[in-house]
Amino acid sequence: MHDSCMIPPWDACRVARGEPGGRPMDREALPADGRRRIARTDVLLADPRLAEAAGRIGRGVVKAAVVAAQRRARAGEIPPDAVADAAVEALPPTASGLRPVINATGVLLHTNLGRAPLSAAARDAVAVASGATDVELDLETGRRARRGRSALAALLERVPRAEAAHVVNNGAAALVLAATALAAGREIVISRGEMVEIGDGFRIPELLAATGARLREVGTTNRTSPDDYAAAVGAETGFILKVHPSNFRMTGFTRGADVAELTGLGVPVVADIGSGLLTPEPLLPDEPDAASMLKAGAHLVTASGDKLLGGPQCGIVLGGEDLVRRLARHPLARALRVGKMTLAALEATVRGPRTPTEEALHADVEELRERAGRLAARLRDAGLDARAVESEAAVGGGGAPGVVLASAAVSLPEPCAPRLRRGAPAVMGRVEDGRCLLDLRSVPPDQDGDLAEAVQRLTR
Ligand SMILES: *Cc1c(COP(=O)(O)O)cnc(C)c1O
Repeated sequence: MHDSCMIPPWDACRVARGEPGGRPMDREALPADGRRRIARTDVLLADPRLAEAAGRIGRGVVKAAVVAAQRRARAGEIPPDAVADAAVEALPPTASGLRPVINATGVLLHTNLGRAPLSAAARDAVAVASGATDVELDLETGRRARRGRSALAALLERVPRAEAAHVVNNGAAALVLAATALAAGREIVISRGEMVEIGDGFRIPELLAATGARLREVGTTNRTSPDDYAAAVGAETGFILKVHPSNFRMTGFTRGADVAELTGLGVPVVADIGSGLLTPEPLLPDEPDAASMLKAGAHLVTASGDKLLGGPQCGIVLGGEDLVRRLARHPLARALRVGKMTLAALEATVRGPRTPTEEALHADVEELRERAGRLAARLRDAGLDARAVESEAAVGGGGAPGVVLASAAVSLPEPCAPRLRRGAPAVMGRVEDGRCLLDLRSVPPDQDGDLAEAVQRLTR
């Protein structure tokens, strides 16, 4: 380790106080008219590095970085002759405002971080599909073909019991389409124990009511029996809806009806499983999966693509040919359809190797401890107060509540958290008991190097 990598005492204090880092300015050395020595915007934009970036990500984006760097120089945060360098360093990696984030929260499916990260296979498929692609064309015959046919085929291969599949924008859209196509102006029979709020104030009963379907509530919050459903089913019934209470758990004096107990009532049973597992996941025995639901007799299953399935944001509908066709042919289906990049990512997720979500779920805790130990040692060598600690990770994404995944983390002083968050790449940790924890279960192992570098940057 070079001496320059060690934290000088002044910076250690800044870290401890959570202040922005950077070398201290020798303000005395600045001339009184230092302000005027800041280069003009057009001069800075002519810097070859910034000119190249303008061609790549757009002049407006580069200009914004330049203006921000000039402002920092005016505020005395950086020397006037460092404005171009600061602008180059602050350039976003793409023309989009979305920044790459290393998810060290220990929450595998973090809703605010876009839920499931895509596999390399899915990212490659997205890159190819982002250009002109045969999403709706048969290159053999030159004629129009069924949109997304290979993604739908992939789903059906994984869930052979499903006769047909359809893909929409998200899990909520799948429910809306089912409610509209099968129950608008009629009734959806639903247990009072399954009137779920998904998150951010969105409530499934309100979503369903917005389609023009009427909710026929049965049972009580804690107990609903098959007889309750049977008594409510009638000429007005569009379907029975079973909603997996994915983000909460009810224990004690409870009773629910299984799908298998409801399939003989002469009306379709729709199961909203949420998580998107296509087949059972042994590590999460309480999470429902599409194959088992269909086997139990569900006529339709709806799910999200970006939860435990580990794919892109989308909603998946699997089930009987006739019902799926009624959904797919409904005029609203056009408004809910997904783009070619989603179809590509979904197919590659379903056909490809284990997703990052599956990898994280199955990661061996001993390996996580070793990674945490190596990372902490490297950061300590760099002068940081870092230590490897035990941690508890969670599935997240409104799934598998109460499931604790043993994990390991690197523990840093709490003030590191906001600085890591503002870095590039941004690192999201978790603040617990006055320490900033970087939980490695949600970090793919191939990001350990980037994570170490991002943390070491705090010492500069
Ligand atoms: C997450 C979830 C939804 C909503 O799915 P989105 O993909 O977020 O629209 C609906 N129902 C259940 C049971 C869920 O868990």
